[in-house]
Amino acid sequence: MSQAADERRMEADVVVVGAGLAGLTATRTLKDAGYTVRLLEARERVGGRLKGFDLGDGKAVDLGGEYFGDKSTAIAATAASVGVRGFRTYDEGRRITVLDGRRYEYTGLFPWRVGPATLADFGQAVLRIERLARSVPPEAPWRAPNARWLDSQTFWSWCRRNTVTPAARAFLTMVMEAGYCASPADLSLLHVLYYANASGGFRYLVEVSGGIQRYRFEGGAHSIPDRLAARLPEELRTGAAVRRVEQRADSVLVSGTGYEVRARYAVIALPVTLAGRLVYEPALPGTRDQFTQRMPAGAAIKCLAVYDEPFWRADGLSGQVTSNRGPFRVAFDTSPSDGSPGVLSAFVTGSAARALARLTPSERRAAVLTGLAEAFGPQAARPRAFVEQNWLDAEFTRGCYHGFAPPGLYTAYGQALRTPIGLIHWAGTESGVHQMGSMGGAVDSGRRAAREIIARDSGESVRQLAAADPVRRG
Ligand SMILES: Cc1cc2nc3c(=O)[nH]c(=O)nc-3n(C[C@H](O)[C@H](O)[C@H](O)COP(=O)(O)OP(=O)(O)OC[C@H]3O[C@@H](n4cnc5c(N)ncnc54)[C@H](O)[C@@H]3O)c2cc1C
Repeated sequence: MSQAADERRMEADVVVVGAGLAGLTATRTLKDAGYTVRLLEARERVGGRLKGFDLGDGKAVDLGGEYFGDKSTAIAATAASVGVRGFRTYDEGRRITVLDGRRYEYTGLFPWRVGPATLADFGQAVLRIERLARSVPPEAPWRAPNARWLDSQTFWSWCRRNTVTPAARAFLTMVMEAGYCASPADLSLLHVLYYANASGGFRYLVEVSGGIQRYRFEGGAHSIPDRLAARLPEELRTGAAVRRVEQRADSVLVSGTGYEVRARYAVIALPVTLAGRLVYEPALPGTRDQFTQRMPAGAAIKCLAVYDEPFWRADGLSGQVTSNRGPFRVAFDTSPSDGSPGVLSAFVTGSAARALARLTPSERRAAVLTGLAEAFGPQAARPRAFVEQNWLDAEFTRGCYHGFAPPGLYTAYGQALRTPIGLIHWAGTESGVHQMGSMGGAVDSGRRAAREIIARDSGESVRQLAAADPVRRG
């Protein structure tokens, strides 16, 4: 066969669809175990929801996933294995919150000047969420005590019953929109608790130095998939959007325009919504399809404003802003580790993303810069560069940071999240256990899917393989 024909008709033990962290991890794990693998990626780049913006001088910042904390052991181990180092997120000075148009500066987790009643109300709500979250097992949220009750309500209906002050509700709304990229009324309470517990706790999820935003990666998080891919030159094929997955008696045929791969197993490492858009032959069982019909992606547009220097630091400000009504819900100082140039990242999420997605890019830029200027003064309105990544528009992502569950999903169809169907196994951060939804969840899911396949061939159990793994979380 000619080389061109070789490229059109490929064979492997396993075909992996999607070269985000999950697909790359599955490929690497299977290759290390002696499997031949083909990894098919629709884009011309790897990394999916991890993407860099080049600042020049060998520096880059993140337009996608970025932060990790002390409990993020899976992504930290993967980064270390390819020589990517972490550094502390800038977290000195006062924070800003803009609540219903009023600007407050504060230190600590909460702006106490909004008043003691609000502070007490918010504090008791966080304690209750924390306690409830601990009752939801990340490996099977549908098995939580009271799972049906937790899954029958939205986070908003819970808030209405468990808080009394409008400002505490506004803060919780801000947290949901910034962290889950959805409105409280979209989210199953069970999902909120599941994500919080899988991440390391609710308070941990919202804290910076004491939480999951504690570190960033030198050169940007996207350098992790770039380096993983560099070690898989034989396996990876980019520009190969998969459209069809056909299961035969003892093989699976995965194809797109102009090529096909025959393999013994397939790993689909896509966001849940996109996994549901592939054509399966024979059609998947109804329970899996009902599941993929019900897990939408969150809404987020990440904007970066680049300045000659991080001028806010000289004013004693951390660069962190939260806002309940403005064009973005949260902003961070996302400058490189040496503080040059100064970079602010604004996360246009949830209801803000839905509203701003309807604007033109130049209208969005104007809106975000106005919001930054309200927080940091007129200098913030004059960046030397501005870039946005609209993840809603991205054909091979379609929203982020991750898929979320509306009420009823996990208790009705949760089992379909990870259960293999014939020769097809499922990966992607949404199916991770450790830090589901984050980079760690993607790594965790890729390793689990690979182990499922190795276990089928070796007769060992997935649990045995996981226990024998020297870097279980890595
Ligand atoms: C703005 C933003 C901020 C975030 N912040 C953080 C953070 O601070 N910390 C954190 O830990 N996580 C964060 N995340 C989440 C994190 O980036 C993701 O959880 C993780 O990268 C998901 O990896 P994945 O491999 O599961 O999916 P993806 O990265 O989505 O990978 C799927 C891959 O499949 C490809 N693909 C899609 N369709 C097809 C097809 N038909 N055929 C072939 N290939 C296809 C895609 O191009 C992509 O490369 C953030 C995400 C975003 C977008």
